[in-house]
This record gives sequence, structure tokens and C-alpha cells, in this order.
Amino acid sequence: MPLRVCIDAGHGGEDPGTVNGKRYEKDDTLRLALQLGKILKANGVDVVYTRTEDIYSSPINKANIGNRLNADYFISIHRNTAIFKKTSGVKTLVYNKKGMKYKIAKDINDSIAAIGFINRGVKSRKCTTVLYHTNMPALLIKIGFITNDSDNILLESKYNEIVEAVAKSFLEVQGLQYNSL
Ligand SMILES: [Zn+2]
Repeated sequence: MPLRVCIDAGHGGEDPGTVNGKRYEKDDTLRLALQLGKILKANGVDVVYTRTEDIYSSPINKANIGNRLNADYFISIHRNTAIFKKTSGVKTLVYNKKGMKYKIAKDINDSIAAIGFINRGVKSRKCTTVLYHTNMPALLIKIGFITNDSDNILLESKYNEIVEAVAKSFLEVQGLQYNSL
């Protein structure tokens, strides 16, 4: 049976996430999620999504989608946000720093940082719904600060490289082969 991964594009519909000018977090997360899914599918992964369009679904519902579909992993995509516009970098959240999810999270975070983002590391979060309500290993990647213009420029200029880094880390940490599109 192929590995099944539930990819969650953060926010959506009436919940835009953080907004910076014309930039909506919900749009960034959907675009990243769909591209990640495309790459993972090309690598033989069975990809399911919590949303593929601009609709709202609560975090509990999103976690339940992953649970109902018996996903092996749950990967949630977000951007980060800060009051100070200078704050920047990549951070990944896991429920605790144990097991394969932590190894994958660390590798993904380091590989995105290697592209040029400040490395804010992997942090454990007990109260993030999609991390504690999911039955499978789950990670939440915050790909740069939407409130930081340099992070947004970096995201656009290295877009494919960033999404490929996530897919490559996810597969290779598990000993699976990664082929670029
Ligand atoms: Zn978010």
C-alpha cells in the first residue's frame, strides 16, 4: 500500500489567516499545498487534501479529514506572522519531539532554512488542534513570515526549490526515493 499523506492548506474561505496588503495567507498555503501534493503524487504517494479550493473548514474538521481517510502523515502548511515586520524565518511545529515526525520536521525545517530563511527550529506545541487531534504523526510548517517582505520575496524567487525541499526531506528521511518533477 502506498503511503497516504493528508496535506492541509492552512485557513481558507472566511478565515484568510494573516493578511499583508494583497497577500492572504490562505492563498499562499493553498498554492504551496497543491504544489507539494503534485510532487508527492509524482513520487508515488497517495495524496489527500483538507481543501483544494478557497473554503473554510475548522481545524477540528481538517484533523478529522485526515483521521477519516486513515492518512499515515498529516502535513499542515502555514505562513508565520509577527507584529514586528523584521521578524523572519522558517519554523515547524510538532506535538512533541519524538519519533519519525520530529526527524522529518527537523530535516524539512533545516532544508528550507538552507535555501535562505532564518532557521527558527522545530518547536513542540500541545495545543495546536491539527497536531493533537490527528491520529497520525503530524507536522505544521510555517514557511516564512507573511509579515516580512524579504521572506515573501524569497518565497516567490525560490518557490519550486522550497516545495521540492519539503517533498525531498519527507521522503528521504523515511528512506524513500525522491525524484524531482
Ligand atoms: Zn496560519
